[in-house]
Amino acid sequence: MQVEILATGDELLTGQVVDTNSPWLMDRLWDLGLMVRRKTLVADDRDDLRAALLETTARADLVVMSGGMGPTEDDLTSECVAAVLGVPLERHEPSIELLRERFRKLGRTLTPNNEKQAWFPRGAEVIPNRWGSAPGFTAQVGRGRVVCLPGVPVEYRGLCDEWVLPHVRARLGEVPSAGLVKLFAVPESHADHAMRPVMDDPANAGVRFGYRAHWPEVHVKWTVPGPDAAARAARIRERVLGIFGEQVFGEGKDELPDLVVARLAARGERVALGESCTGGMVAELLTSVPGASAVLDLGVVAYANAAKEQVLGVPAELLAAHGAVSEAVARALAEGARRTASAAWGVGITGIAGPSGGTPEKPVGTVHLAVAGPSGTEAVARAYRGDRDRVRRQAAYEALNLLRLALR
Ligand code: ATP
Ligand code: MG
Repeated sequence: MQVEILATGDELLTGQVVDTNSPWLMDRLWDLGLMVRRKTLVADDRDDLRAALLETTARADLVVMSGGMGPTEDDLTSECVAAVLGVPLERHEPSIELLRERFRKLGRTLTPNNEKQAWFPRGAEVIPNRWGSAPGFTAQVGRGRVVCLPGVPVEYRGLCDEWVLPHVRARLGEVPSAGLVKLFAVPESHADHAMRPVMDDPANAGVRFGYRAHWPEVHVKWTVPGPDAAARAARIRERVLGIFGEQVFGEGKDELPDLVVARLAARGERVALGESCTGGMVAELLTSVPGASAVLDLGVVAYANAAKEQVLGVPAELLAAHGAVSEAVARALAEGARRTASAAWGVGITGIAGPSGGTPEKPVGTVHLAVAGPSGTEAVARAYRGDRDRVRRQAAYEALNLLRLALR
């Protein structure tokens, strides 16, 4: 089955909006064992849209198109599909009714341009949209089936989950089984080396393995085709978990901040943060998780030495003797945050994110992290590579990972 993506919208070609819809769908198609053959980005232009529709449907069995389904002048999808098919647009009464009802609820009246969203090429099948006002539709164009979806990401994803992916699954018949394990700070080359015996095992012939690095996370994926795919995928999972052990922080949709919040919540414990170089990034990551209020007590951004002393009680002598970026100060930040909040856990982070501020003894990327808990304080030193953003991001995720390990 050949699948192509056709994303439309001027904003995608001016650099104002990054096309996030396509990678999202590609990821899900990959889980079904399919790699998208091509992705085309087209501006809101009639000629270009028609040409793109003809080209993609001549090659692919399925073309997933997005954008241009709204009520405005530049929303041309229905019109262009109709033109390519040589059919007129027709008003779809059930969709008009739904639009009216939607607008009534919002206390607005339906204007003629809004009605435009309920006009589809004759013969098209309308796909109702529970997430927004513009329905999607699908039509056969030459060899290919075109599915036209709104560009708004929640609507796009909703309709892909509800319509496109089940349709693909049904056509594939036998669906492969996929697995995904998330590693923390394992270089891709190490992961690849460690995975060799599994990948080269004749029992795993036909399995597609892949890596994806979102440093410091590295994801290992596999897709198993064939009749006993689920059992084979489960055996691979066991081996992968055995190989990487504690380096595995999660699987599938697991995210590090969610796991930390869940572990703290399950233990009925709370954490307090003393952040210097990460500037509150750990607090941000934790508070982005629903339910964080049950586990996060306090997050202090103690940037200046005076703040480290006065707010978190880091001794002035310690700062003078070791410098702000030191194991001793990371420990004192963690312990100070823990003590100040009377929390079970405290996290301290101090480092040099760069680009300036490095010295031969403490180069840019030097970060000290500490976790203070009921049975003492553990500290680690890191020498990260990369620019300021990358150093800070690695430090924040490292802090979460240390906390995850402490909460075992
Ligand atoms: P609307 O009814 O809102 O006009 P539409 O189907 O016409 O929806 P667009 O106008 O193309 O879609 O885009 C709507 C919104 O979705 C815009 O904010 C746009 O930036 C965003 N969007 C469109 N396509 C994508 C994409 N491929 N990836 C991420 N965001 C997108
Ligand atoms: Mg639009």
